Amino acid sequence: MTGTVGTRRETRPPEKSAVPQTADDASARRTAAALKESALPFQPMDPLRIGVLAVQGNFREHIAVLRRLGVETIEVRKPDELEGLDGLVIPGGESTTFMRLMRLYGLDKAVRRFRGAVFGTCAGMIVLDSNHLALVDVTVRRNAFGRQVASFEADLTIAGEAEPIRAVFIRAPWIEEVGPEVEVLAELDGRVVLAREGRFLVASFHPELTGDTRLHERFLAMVKEERLVRA
Ligand code: GLN
Repeated sequence: MTGTVGTRRETRPPEKSAVPQTADDASARRTAAALKESALPFQPMDPLRIGVLAVQGNFREHIAVLRRLGVETIEVRKPDELEGLDGLVIPGGESTTFMRLMRLYGLDKAVRRFRGAVFGTCAGMIVLDSNHLALVDVTVRRNAFGRQVASFEADLTIAGEAEPIRAVFIRAPWIEEVGPEVEVLAELDGRVVLAREGRFLVASFHPELTGDTRLHERFLAMVKEERLVRA
């Protein structure tokens, strides 16, 4: 899907129309009332719209995973394509190219203004760190595990996951310093490779390449949380 998709969210039909007028009316009305008052997972919501920064790098692979998870995806190449999005993925690629193209198109400022949840993977994590867009309180070291020859896979133990996650590292960065609000979610050989700070999730590796959708699902849960906070 490309930028041809409208950026505004469709307006929801009036709440009343969800209450069926059948013999089971009373119970249906009770269910509808309960749904209306209940917390997070049961609230009726507009479908999620997730943008993937598509100036360079692995955006197609992220889009494929997000589609499998049933969300609408938008390729973001211009600042106005961020409008109305619930979340944004900044994929892996080449961080120097990302920064150059983002500045050229005004996407650096637009991403700074964006209020939804953001998932930065590999080069996308570098772009978010304190030496670049300064949106996440981490300092990242580029090519920290070595260059192309040092690309590898590893099983990571991740906070909150029962089973390890297979992770693909490609000329990967690691997180050298973390601020006080940053939650470290995974380490490899004592190096931080997955972390969260508020609405930001950052990974050294490429979760879009393995077919394991758990990290994208975790990100979508953050997107929903963030949308409720902003509602
Ligand atoms: N080495 C790249 C950089 O420094 C990141 C590699 C990647 O995204 N796979 O930008």
